[in-house]
Amino acid sequence: MTHQELWQTVLAQIQLNISPANFATWFTNTKIVCQEEGTVTVSVPNSFAKEWLEQKYNKEILKILRTLDLSIKEIIYQIELPATKIKENSRRAETQELPAEQLGFAELETDKETNLNSKYSFQNYIIGPFNELAYAAAEAIIKEPGKAYNPLFIYGGVGLGKTHLLQAVGNELSKGSSPYKVKYIPSDKLISVIVNSIRNNSIESLKSDLRKVDVLIVDDVQFFAGKEKTQEEFFHTFNDLYQKGKQIILSSDRPPKAIPAITERLKSRFEGGMVADVSLPDYETRLAILKQKTLEKNTEVPPKVLEYIAANIQKNVREIESALNRLLIFQKINNKVPSFEEAKKLLRTIIVSPSKFTNPTRIIQAISEFYDLEDKSLFCSSRKKEFVKPRQLAMYLLRKELSFSFPAIGRKFGGKDHTTVMHACQLINREIQESERFSQEVDLILQKIYIMDA
Ligand code: ADP
Ligand code: MG
Repeated sequence: MTHQELWQTVLAQIQLNISPANFATWFTNTKIVCQEEGTVTVSVPNSFAKEWLEQKYNKEILKILRTLDLSIKEIIYQIELPATKIKENSRRAETQELPAEQLGFAELETDKETNLNSKYSFQNYIIGPFNELAYAAAEAIIKEPGKAYNPLFIYGGVGLGKTHLLQAVGNELSKGSSPYKVKYIPSDKLISVIVNSIRNNSIESLKSDLRKVDVLIVDDVQFFAGKEKTQEEFFHTFNDLYQKGKQIILSSDRPPKAIPAITERLKSRFEGGMVADVSLPDYETRLAILKQKTLEKNTEVPPKVLEYIAANIQKNVREIESALNRLLIFQKINNKVPSFEEAKKLLRTIIVSPSKFTNPTRIIQAISEFYDLEDKSLFCSSRKKEFVKPRQLAMYLLRKELSFSFPAIGRKFGGKDHTTVMHACQLINREIQESERFSQEVDLILQKIYIMDA
């Protein structure tokens, strides 16, 4: 039996005993990579699948394996890190000259110098009535950075493509024969860099670094609210760059005048160039985005299913994407395209208001199970890393899935201040956006939350 046949037999058995959602969650992208002297090595995509398989499924897997081959004594689960994939892929790319996009790892590439992620480009950015103003402004800037509109201020709700647009501009300007020196910074990162450099007396060198760029992009500046020191430093940097004709691009979830607790002088700088909004995509655009994403992911989804998603997810492109991803996981596991009925079932929790399907207890339980902690340790005040992240994630999910208020979450976690909760939610939100791996992990936890009673 080849490794593949052996593992297929195990998977076929396991699949009989657990729910399809659980199966998809824990067994996607697993395979046997080695069998030697009674030890079978199974590669798994992330640390959670590893822990989960080790703790919950190891016995059963071993039992099945031993019915097939009595010499097998032990299983080792090994994470196949994206990094190794890149290496393999790029080696292959060198020999066979496959374009990088086709290998599907473009999303892992964040440039150290610019902080830009090459997955955000204009080639995969769909333009519709909802974003055409912002897009037109971006185009003008690409033609004449620092001249057309300065600053460009893009605002709009969550998941509507602001980061994508900002980074696409950055990517466009930082390539070519005479590239601009671009720096992309999410505002909360900028805040912490500024705070730290004030503490370490290195603010001058930070300032001079920031002032060396040709294009400074700061994402989500609504987080500047109430951060006086940051506002002051940023104000001076802004002026310096502006006077030198360097381009500044900003985004926010609301227009400048609606950002609370920022100084008038900074607000007027924000408003001093072009302010463009992105609103909600209409049905046609949502469908176009879906088609684009299916192309990117190199897959086919029946038109009726795409239309169903486009008709039902209206407010957030990121959710449209995660609906599609859910179908893709199904497709990979079951080796078939989901039928319309199956798709509807799979998308139930995205499309129908999630709060109907979950409650705080379930969220806490899913997170503690996932990280293998006791429920109550999420509420303890320990600052150990192994507790902090799950606790922050719990806060984030109570907010996101159940729309709890920040103070209510604070009370639940032993009387924490609402700003602590907000901070936790921001941190998690950013990590989800920045780390493909973490966002997959959160997705796994969400699946866990919503399938516990399935
Ligand atoms: P925001 O910054 O506004 O919260 P993002 O830029 O992070 O939103 O977009 C969320 C997801 O939706 C990203 O994966 C992005 O690529 C995708 N997306 C948003 N708008 C578009 C669009 N117009 N065309 C293609 N993909 C889009
Ligand atoms: Mg964003």
